[in-house]
Amino acid sequence: MANQKQESMSFREGVERMVDRATLAAGLDTNTARVIKASSAVLQIRFPVKVHSGVEVFTGWWSVHSTHRLPAKGGLRFAPHVNQDETEALSALMSYKCALADIPFGGAKGGLMINPSHYNEDELRDITRHFAQELARRGFLDPATNVPAPDMGTSAREMSWIADTYKSLYPEDINQDACVTGKPVNRGGIPGRTEATGKGVQYALQEFFRHPDEVAKTGLSDGLTDKRVVIQGLGNVGYHAAKFLSEEDNVKIVAVIERDGVVYNEEGLNIHDVRQCMVEQGGLRDFTGGQFSENHHEALEMECDILIPAALESQIHADNAMRIQAKLIVEAANGPVTYEADEILRRRGIVMLPDVWVNAGGVTVSYFEWSRNLSHMRFGRLQRRFDELRGANYLRALEDVSGQEVPAKIRSQIVHGASELDLVRSGLDDTMRSAFSDIRDTIKHNPEIHDYRTAAFVIAIRKLAQSYYDLGLAEVRE
Ligand code: NAD
Repeated sequence: MANQKQESMSFREGVERMVDRATLAAGLDTNTARVIKASSAVLQIRFPVKVHSGVEVFTGWWSVHSTHRLPAKGGLRFAPHVNQDETEALSALMSYKCALADIPFGGAKGGLMINPSHYNEDELRDITRHFAQELARRGFLDPATNVPAPDMGTSAREMSWIADTYKSLYPEDINQDACVTGKPVNRGGIPGRTEATGKGVQYALQEFFRHPDEVAKTGLSDGLTDKRVVIQGLGNVGYHAAKFLSEEDNVKIVAVIERDGVVYNEEGLNIHDVRQCMVEQGGLRDFTGGQFSENHHEALEMECDILIPAALESQIHADNAMRIQAKLIVEAANGPVTYEADEILRRRGIVMLPDVWVNAGGVTVSYFEWSRNLSHMRFGRLQRRFDELRGANYLRALEDVSGQEVPAKIRSQIVHGASELDLVRSGLDDTMRSAFSDIRDTIKHNPEIHDYRTAAFVIAIRKLAQSYYDLGLAEVRE
């Protein structure tokens, strides 16, 4: 895989080492950590589908890492490099992410070994429906137990095919919409889910920059404005993170790294135009608003304030970690920094905001969508007009007492009843802020813990351990 070097351990082993490190730092019971690390189940499926070239046999996995809370939740990845180790590693990260973000789900992950660009839409629909059928028949697709969501190579389109497949198999299930999240809004989805992970990356960075004592650790000046940002991967997560950060926080996206190369512009790239070029041309080579180079490996190492890897795992590894010049790494992708690179970067004093916090926005809004599907009612339906009426009464009273008219902008804010998107964004922002507050508290109260990743893992492990203690499983010996 591009830019991935042979590490001495696999992705899954790297995640387990991170758990071991956190267990040691917090003085947690190593036997409990062993129970927590073990995957609950891994299903491998092979199924034939007739496509343009004839009948092809596809291989896919669904890994359930933890079931202490149900359903087990995780993204479904369609990519040629998908394998069991990767799927297990990603399902474990989901368990820790949900625990950190206080989301009552177990961790899971799905993967299908496929290059989606080799198939037309009809074929992809067929392949996705077959995969969904195989998962459902074996009890690995169900609103109560296993609920996929979009990930690399999948989107609302694939989620709606999966929902449709489940509905045709189980038409009597009144909660059928909740079998998958990230659906289109008009098919049981929720406003704000498509961009949720990128929006969450923005909220994480905004929250980090609210704390000058934390920012000081990076050597960066206060405030996000004019920070020079390099971003790898302009897919769902990368595009939305870059769009919100450049449009609303005035950061300068000086480089975008994609599969075919990198585009630079020291004045800041227009993210909308870069994305348009990718959609229309299939890559960055013909982009006219910046300088193009094929050398995307070295681009990760360019001097910048903030590096946002938003493509795939193991992009910063033992071989290039010494050359990374960013002062702050914001892990929008899952596992973009290997365990070995993490050790090197920590020794070099480069600050990392870990994936289990930074990209938790996706599963957070998936949780809102799943809850909405089970309640069969959109958020805010009962109180929106009531809130507007109360705001209008409050405004009238204010103007009567003061004898002054409230300016139009404030007036509209006071009488505004929250839309469903307002509520989703508010819940997402609150989740990102609360998780960082817990991370800061953990560092404050544990002198052995100095970095955000270890702190995040300690919080997650403690919560998981509590569930296992409650079940009596913490005393399990192998
Ligand atoms: P995506 O498929 O929409 O986008 C991935 C982008 O990365 C694509 O534009 C692709 O061309 C690019 N890319 C692939 N290989 C690359 C390489 N070697 N160098 C540079 N660019 C490369 O996927 P996504 O949903 O945006 O997911 C990106 C990452 O975020 C993954 O690690 C995923 O697990 C993680 N994530 C996604 C979500 C979500 O809601 N989609 C949630 C949490 C975490």
